[in-house]
Amino acid sequence: MTERTANVPCPGCACLCDDVTLTFDNGELVNFEPRCELGEQWFRNYNQAIPSTAEIKGQTVTIEEAVRFSADLLLKADYPLIYGLSRSATPGQRAAVALAERIGAVIDTTASLCHGPSIMAIQEVGEVTCTLGEVRNRADLIIFWGCHPAESHPRHAERYASLARGKYTPNGRTDRTVVMVGDAKQVHQWRLDPAGTEPDIVIPVEAGKDFETLAMLRMLLQGVAVPEASDELRRLLELMRGCRYGTVFFGLGIAETSMWDGQPHQSIGHINVASLLKLVAELNAVTRFTARRMRLQGDVSGADNVLCWQTSYPFGVDLSRGYPRYNPGEFTANEVLGRRDADLCLLVGAETVQYFSESARNHLRSIPTIVLDYPGVPLEFTPTVRFTTGVYGLHAVGTAYRMDNVPIMLKAPRKSDFPTDEHILSDILDHIAQVQGK
Ligand code: SF4
Repeated sequence: MTERTANVPCPGCACLCDDVTLTFDNGELVNFEPRCELGEQWFRNYNQAIPSTAEIKGQTVTIEEAVRFSADLLLKADYPLIYGLSRSATPGQRAAVALAERIGAVIDTTASLCHGPSIMAIQEVGEVTCTLGEVRNRADLIIFWGCHPAESHPRHAERYASLARGKYTPNGRTDRTVVMVGDAKQVHQWRLDPAGTEPDIVIPVEAGKDFETLAMLRMLLQGVAVPEASDELRRLLELMRGCRYGTVFFGLGIAETSMWDGQPHQSIGHINVASLLKLVAELNAVTRFTARRMRLQGDVSGADNVLCWQTSYPFGVDLSRGYPRYNPGEFTANEVLGRRDADLCLLVGAETVQYFSESARNHLRSIPTIVLDYPGVPLEFTPTVRFTTGVYGLHAVGTAYRMDNVPIMLKAPRKSDFPTDEHILSDILDHIAQVQGK
């Protein structure tokens, strides 16, 4: 039987395009429109005909047994950690925070391994920002700094940015100047979309020199003589000053927290981003200018939002004293595990465990683990308890946040009997409340 569902939001990246039409034939995805390999692959990966399962130490059990066993493990833990959340959606994230509050856990999201420094910079200096709709309709200058949209956000150009036709940009690409700034070794190969559309100007930056480049732009803007500034940097500043509405999209190339090789690197990602955000704020003295993060796959923006509205902090939150404490580098998962502090870890999505330090991964293997993950996701360790849960946006409805923090209602184009993250986490919480008699 052929089933066709139109206007499906795609969680394949943080663009969350909500104009996708999916066609399934006897349960198999046979068509994905409009074309986007990344989005199509996302739906193919999770559209697997495998039964809903719960396992304890590798043995299949009922979901109820696994829920009870998980609740008992959590009740025994002194300092549990709940981590992940970005591959879930608002209902699952909200249930995870409720559970963390109940048991006094540390709760952290995958932001601590990616855009955590950007969040810290925004907290420090603020952010002049916008929705993607504003960019589409108004921006005549678009700058990509430290990101490669053709690879990470394939339809970003067509729907929201470089190629999009908006109210004050009716001619799309020809109404905009597009600049790509990034790592000198790669930036010349970066493109705006998978069709290979090139930017108008490319500005290579030597590895690790983003801060110096931004400092020169800020000094030039203040009228300070900067003999070291290149002609292309001066031209970029003139474009910035002269545009009607400018936007800079920035990615992990400027914000990256650190790559782990056993020891934390001294990262200056938050200083780079703070400098960029200050430049954008200062440009508003002469024109309208905004900044926007290029968030990656999954509902990482939603995880920030849910943690913020429920605990006041976006990631790395310790609830063990009965009130929230926030400290990236102390209450973030990699550090809590690396110091061997946590005696249990509940993972809502385990896809980023591979980026933890060696010591954190080793500790994770030595403590009880409860994993909620999507069908067919391989794990590098055998968890104590494992639940296969339904995929928000494919099997279950829910809310996810686009990269500009606009909430989008996800659809459920495939029926399934998988329980959701929300269902499992709420059942565990209910069982704990029963045991505690409250
Ligand atoms: S650009 Fe991103 S959200 Fe849009 S269809 Fe492609 S993967 Fe999905």
